[in-house]
Parts: sequence; C-alpha cells; structure tokens
Amino acid sequence: MLDKVVIANRGEIALRILRACHEMGIKTVAVYSEADSDQKHVFLADESVCIGPAASTESYLNIPAVISAAEVTDAVGIHPGYGFLSENADFAERVEESGFVFIGPRSETIRMMGDKVSAISAMQKAGVPCVPGSNGELGEDGDENLRIARDIGYPVIIKAVGGGGGRGMRVVHSDATLRNAISITRSEAQAAFGNGAVYMEKFLEHPRHIEIQVLADEHGNAIYLAERDCSMQRRHQKVIEEAPAPGLSEEIRSEIGARCVEACLAIGYRSAGTFEFLYENGQFYFIEMNTRVQVEHPVTEMITGVDIIREQLRIAAGEQLSYRQEDIRVHGHAIECRINAEDPHTFMPSPGLIEHYHPPGGFGVRVDTHIYGGYKVPPYYDSMIGKLIVHGDSRQQAIARMSMALSEIVIEGIKTNIHLHQRIIDESAFQTGGTDIHYLENKLGLK
Ligand code: ADP
Repeated sequence: MLDKVVIANRGEIALRILRACHEMGIKTVAVYSEADSDQKHVFLADESVCIGPAASTESYLNIPAVISAAEVTDAVGIHPGYGFLSENADFAERVEESGFVFIGPRSETIRMMGDKVSAISAMQKAGVPCVPGSNGELGEDGDENLRIARDIGYPVIIKAVGGGGGRGMRVVHSDATLRNAISITRSEAQAAFGNGAVYMEKFLEHPRHIEIQVLADEHGNAIYLAERDCSMQRRHQKVIEEAPAPGLSEEIRSEIGARCVEACLAIGYRSAGTFEFLYENGQFYFIEMNTRVQVEHPVTEMITGVDIIREQLRIAAGEQLSYRQEDIRVHGHAIECRINAEDPHTFMPSPGLIEHYHPPGGFGVRVDTHIYGGYKVPPYYDSMIGKLIVHGDSRQQAIARMSMALSEIVIEGIKTNIHLHQRIIDESAFQTGGTDIHYLENKLGLK
C-alpha cells in the first residue's frame, strides 16, 4: 500500500481523502495556502506544508509547489481531489515524471478526455451513444457550418472544445444567428480556456443529467457503480444529486453501465471516473467524461457500500479492484444537498466567520464538511462549505430524512442555501422525481 500521500486540495474533499487514508494506515501530508492554515484536515494530517499565498494560482494550482511538498515530506503519492489540478494532464505527467504516484488516470487519458472532441470520438469508437453533432471542431467556412447545423436540426448548441464548469456554451435556434454565435463562443472560449476551438451538438430541450460512476484497475478489471441523477442544476452547476435515478429500470442501467465498462477497457482507463450523459426519451447521449472523483460521489457510496476514495488509493497502489460487477447491488436511495456559503437571493458568495454550527445526525445521515464553530470561510475559493447526504430504504424515506436533517442543521454568521434546499425538497415535482435540467431555473424563478 502507499506509505504517505499528499492531499493536493482543500475543504471537505481534503478531509474526505484524509479519512480514507488514515483508515487504511496511509500517512497524510496536507498542503495549504496562507488563507487556509485553520482547515480541519491541516490539523488532522500527519504533516502539513504551506504552499503559497491565498490566490489559488499561486498555491493550489502551483504545480512546482505541490510537487516540492511531496519531495520534502518523502511522500509516495499525490491525490488531487476534484477541481484545482485534478484534470490537468500536465500536472499528472509532472507528478509521475518526478517519481510519484498520481492517484487518478494516466496523463494521456486525462488529456484525451479533456478535449471534448477527442473524448466524443473515442466514445463513438467504443460504442457509447453520443449527442448528434459536428463530429469534430468547426472550421471557418460559414456555409459549411450552416449545412452542419441544418443537418443536425435546430436548436443546436455551440460548445468550447476545452470547456468546463458549465461555461463556453451558446444555444442557436436558427440560421440567422449561427455565424455570430460561433464567433462569440470562439472568442469567449479563447479568453476563458486559452483554446478557441468549438464544436456543435444538437441542443436537447428537456433532458435529464444522468451519469455513470466507474472504477478501473491496471489489471484489466472495470466495473460501474450504478448511476446518479444530477438534473437539479443552476447555471449548469449541480445543486442536488441523487442515486439511483428515479424511474430508471435495472435493464436500462445495466445496458448503459456495460457500455461504459467496455469504453473504460477500450481506452485503458484507470482509477475512478464518471461518464456524463443527457437522458431524453429513454435514450442516453454522452456529453463528457470526468477523469477524477466527483463532488457527488457519496450518493453512490451510500447505495452501493463501496468507498470510492479507498478504491482509488488501492488502484494507485497497483492492487486489483475489491469488487466484481456481480458484487455491486443498489440498496435504497441516497440524496445529497450541496451547502454553499451564499446569499439565498442573489447567489453571491457569503464568506465570513461561522459563529455557531450544529450538524444534523441520526440513522442514514452523513455530513461531509470541513467547517466548525469559529471557522472563517475565506473569500478566495469556491463557496461550497459542505455536503449533506442522506440514505433511506426508499426514495420517499430519503426525502423525509433530508427534510429533517435540513431542519436540524444550524450554521450562523454567514448566509447559506439551506432554505433553498428545503424549498426544493418540499416541491411536489421533486417528490415525484425525474425533473429535467431546466426545472430548477424555470419553476423556482431563479433564472
Ligand atoms: P462542462 O464541462 O462545462 O460541465 P458539459 O458538456 O458537461 O460542460 O455540459 C454542462 C451542462 O450543459 C449539461 O449538464 C447540460 O445542462 C448542458 N448541456 C450541455 N450540452 C447540451 C446539449 N447538447 N443539449 C442540452 N443541454 C446541454
């Protein structure tokens, strides 16, 4: 097993990784910015190294600083968590060239999946269903682009090849605005991602977002851990996630799961990963693959009993997966609410001192958070301060538990979105389940 691991992240995921390591007898090194010396995982880690100032470009995104932290502490592996350097192929490559184990996929895989056009073409080859589209980046020929759009059929969506975080996308409804939309998306993509390449897809009007969690080791074993429904989104960002997806039959699950497993084997995938799909009229359409652990991984853990971070650590140590496909069963239902430090009306971040904190608890309630009473949420990073996860025998029981847990939680001193979660959970459409990705923005008037 790995002897010592650097956790190249902060917040709840750093704590999550630390817990998995300590449970397995792996020593931990926390790296933190000058604004984060009071992080809970920094107190709990075996060693800690300050890697730079508050600005993430100078600390959590500073590749030489993270690698030197591994060097000075004699660590053997680096876990990137999610966000920050987790999908940076150059980082993964530098980590391995420097003689450390990157706890994630091979850098070539990250690079291929980070370019959405090459990801889609790899998936098409592997037999994964994709959204009808341009099958490659768009050229400069305006007439040719018009032809592609008419072939696909309006509405279409123009997307950045190097895009991420729900940015760099534009919907087009007719010939009249196509040229302009392509050129604006190109310049935005160039500014945001340093890559002006764009491609075109059919814009699905009422899809759900359903994703498949996979695990693959270096011995030719790959499995899928059922699916998550992450349709509850605002500005293409997930707000509530659940597993399994309401109404999805075992037959459909095993069919799409098997395709994802085959794709993992075809591309030589390693570690944990997620195939993201839009799901409309009973059909799956691949949109992208995330080559890292995701924020919403706990809902899958709750229904399958598989500790995904533990498996990542075992895979990185060269071990075989602990499970075969037939060992994986779906038990009950799990829901996760992302708790953000934000203004409930404007959605602006609300950093500051947490004066009082009382977590909820009880049977089937899990809280993944780094906050504590007296902790000061810094203004420099993502506003997510934790995740409330519940599990129940049925979806109905999970909803009742979430409602109770939300009513118990007390976070005072900063503003949070707890009340918004309560409102969503109470809505009859949520209770019925299966709403599409536009539901939250439309129904709650949050646009
Ligand atoms: P990112 O990498 O920025 O997250 P994705 O390709 O995963 O980009 O898309 C993010 C979200 O944008 C999806 O969850 C969905 O809400 C919307 N979206 C993307 N492609 C389409 C499409 N072809 N039709 C409709 N909505 C889409």
